[in-house]
Amino acid sequence: MPDYQAILEEIHAKVVAERPEGRVASYIPGLAKIHPDLFGMHLLTAEGEEFSVGDSDETFSIQSITKVLLISMVLSTQGRKIWSRVGVEPSGDPFNSLVQLEHERGIPRNPFINSGALVVCDFLMSLYDDPLSEFLNFVRRISGVPDISFDRFVAKSERKVAYRNLAMLNFMKDFGNIHNDIIAVIDFYCAVCSIRMSCGELARTFALFMNHGKLGNGEQILSVRRAKRINALMLTCGFYDESGEFAFRVGLPGKSGVGGGIAAVNPGKYSVAVWSPPLNEKGNSAAGCLALELLTDITGTSIF
Ligand code: GLU
Repeated sequence: MPDYQAILEEIHAKVVAERPEGRVASYIPGLAKIHPDLFGMHLLTAEGEEFSVGDSDETFSIQSITKVLLISMVLSTQGRKIWSRVGVEPSGDPFNSLVQLEHERGIPRNPFINSGALVVCDFLMSLYDDPLSEFLNFVRRISGVPDISFDRFVAKSERKVAYRNLAMLNFMKDFGNIHNDIIAVIDFYCAVCSIRMSCGELARTFALFMNHGKLGNGEQILSVRRAKRINALMLTCGFYDESGEFAFRVGLPGKSGVGGGIAAVNPGKYSVAVWSPPLNEKGNSAAGCLALELLTDITGTSIF
């Protein structure tokens, strides 16, 4: 096995020296105040060994990484009905784009762009009386962390300026693809995006996708087939209109969030999470992308 601890330290030193250019997300006021120099990385192997560097124990807003957990919850319960309401193709557009929705009659391209995740939220809302508690319990079960919760301040601050996501909801409601009250859907969405986790917690949560749908205790949460599909979606759609570039440079299924986090897996080998708040122009953590590129280059462990 590679000496992952030494490799993470080497990556940390290189990222600090290179300081790739980026800006902390400011369109959600609650995210704007985060210190740009924070950096953490945590890697968990399939054998259960854990390695970390930097601020890997600090919790941060996972934002869009939550979208992987939302679709996982749907697939772990209701399964395939969701696919008549959201597609599985990369969008090639920014995460908050409205343009494709009109052409495609209110059916979002995939569950990892905002419109797609809003439909998945709506789907969960039709299943449960208290979808937020159900979802938090699902995340607690997968992560093994009983007190995972969301940041009310960040949720409120996103909710205040959620004009574009509300526009998408209105649009999709008009096409008949949102079944619940749009205000209730946006409140649920903003809460689940503001869940806080550390790199360690995130890497342990994503072990589900490294382990082909199985938890550490052997419980099969997702079938092998569904876990495969989620990994395929992460590879093709996990980084918005930079998904091709991420596959090209890093070569791992993964998902980013505008809080600066990225979770990625090499199925059967490791689960890794990295966090650095400044984002590149596509909305992905600039140092996070570099760190994962260095990881797969140094260890020769992309999936390709
Ligand atoms: N909550 C964010 C939004 O809807 C998520 C975006 C992201 O992390 O990419 O804008």
